[in-house]
Amino acid sequence: MMKKKLWIVFCLLMLATWPAPLHHAKAAPYFYDVGTTHRAKNEIYYLAEGQIVLGSLSGRFYPAKYVTRAEAAAIIGRTLNFNGEPRATRFKDVGKGNFASGYIQEAVEHNIINGYRDGTFRPDQFVTRGEMALLINRAYSLGGTTLSAAVQQLKMRGIAEGKADGTFGEDEPIIRADFAVFVARAINPQYRVNPQLSSIGEATVTASALNVRKGPSTNYGAVGLLYRGQSVDLLHVVGNWAYVRSSGIEGFVSRAYLSGGAAEPGENNELLDYVRTQTIIIDPGHGGYDPGAVANGLLEKEINLNVALKVKSLFENTGFGIALTRETDVFVPLSGRVSFAKEQGGDVFVSIHTNAGGGTGTETYYYSAAATNPYVEQSEKLAQCIQKRLVEAWNAVDRGTKRGNLHVLRENSMPAVLVELGFIDRKEDAEKLGSPYWQEQAAKAIYLGILDYYALESGLDFQPLYDRVQ
Ligand SMILES: [Zn+2]
Repeated sequence: MMKKKLWIVFCLLMLATWPAPLHHAKAAPYFYDVGTTHRAKNEIYYLAEGQIVLGSLSGRFYPAKYVTRAEAAAIIGRTLNFNGEPRATRFKDVGKGNFASGYIQEAVEHNIINGYRDGTFRPDQFVTRGEMALLINRAYSLGGTTLSAAVQQLKMRGIAEGKADGTFGEDEPIIRADFAVFVARAINPQYRVNPQLSSIGEATVTASALNVRKGPSTNYGAVGLLYRGQSVDLLHVVGNWAYVRSSGIEGFVSRAYLSGGAAEPGENNELLDYVRTQTIIIDPGHGGYDPGAVANGLLEKEINLNVALKVKSLFENTGFGIALTRETDVFVPLSGRVSFAKEQGGDVFVSIHTNAGGGTGTETYYYSAAATNPYVEQSEKLAQCIQKRLVEAWNAVDRGTKRGNLHVLRENSMPAVLVELGFIDRKEDAEKLGSPYWQEQAAKAIYLGILDYYALESGLDFQPLYDRVQ
């Protein structure tokens, strides 16, 4: 008994001292009852990412439960960024104690859902598939005002398919998993069956730069950036957000930063003109048969590549050119890395490595002899910018910027630096090096450091690009 008690105390101590990140990123939602093989997992997690569907406190989604009218109003209300603050409603059976009262009130005001003649809303009544079809048509202005027209709209747009027996099952209650699928498809055409979207108009970006997001709210991550004066094709509208396509980027932007009509030729702004001329080369060290440093169950080549790929995704669709000297676990000789950078017309070169040898902390190298690579001053400035951001992001020991006679710096012909993120053979450093969370923080730091450098070089305001990682 004594032993068991001690074991429990030990476990509690372990829990209390478990190393926790200082700043948690928004935790990726996970539902214990929606696993990797669940047929609706993509749609459910997509909505969860935007905090459109929420799980229970115990981390469950209950995909097979029927949807109530209150839940339907809340889910649809969240896609439209309605004010969900619980408040009194016009319905005698929906007080401000009801979690969905705010959404119900707004949904009724927007004619998306109605109450009953007896002055009730019946918040706990299950939603049928037919009601769902009408709700979605009204919420996203799809045009179907009768039941059959609403069902036809959903089928035509690839939002809903009929049942196997050829009917729509309009009187059957709908389960949460199916409701999630229909809502995800209704708001994001990428989830539809055979999506075929045609332009419903043209518009021009009015913000100096505008994030294109995965979903219709700032809860969703950015997939690209558009600049003032760029034209977009409007494909679909969800509340105050528009689903647009432009320059190979597709996603949601806030309608507040669009004006009607096509852009005037030559209206492009200075920031876009600048970033379009810049190509960033990221060089994940080692690879293939060369693992780099190995310790604590970690391989340097994997850490370097993971961080590099994350940096790449941050720069993708921003207008900057971005290229990696390797994107898979292959060996690339040092001379091949440099020649690749030159062939790509690189403007900055950032090599990512992991240290070993018993120290701790972060350091960044640049080459100081101008004989071969003439960009000494810029390299030092770039090193300082990235070093500062990395030390901040990891709260790491600052080993400073250093001069190093390294091939990829010396033989290059652009501002070039080599970062050593931390020591793989030092337990405290290795915990961060091996953690996807901390790898992401390192990637953001490198992204921000490169932007800091460009801000100094160009004197331009990169705020919209900084905003992508906030
Ligand atoms: Zn290395």
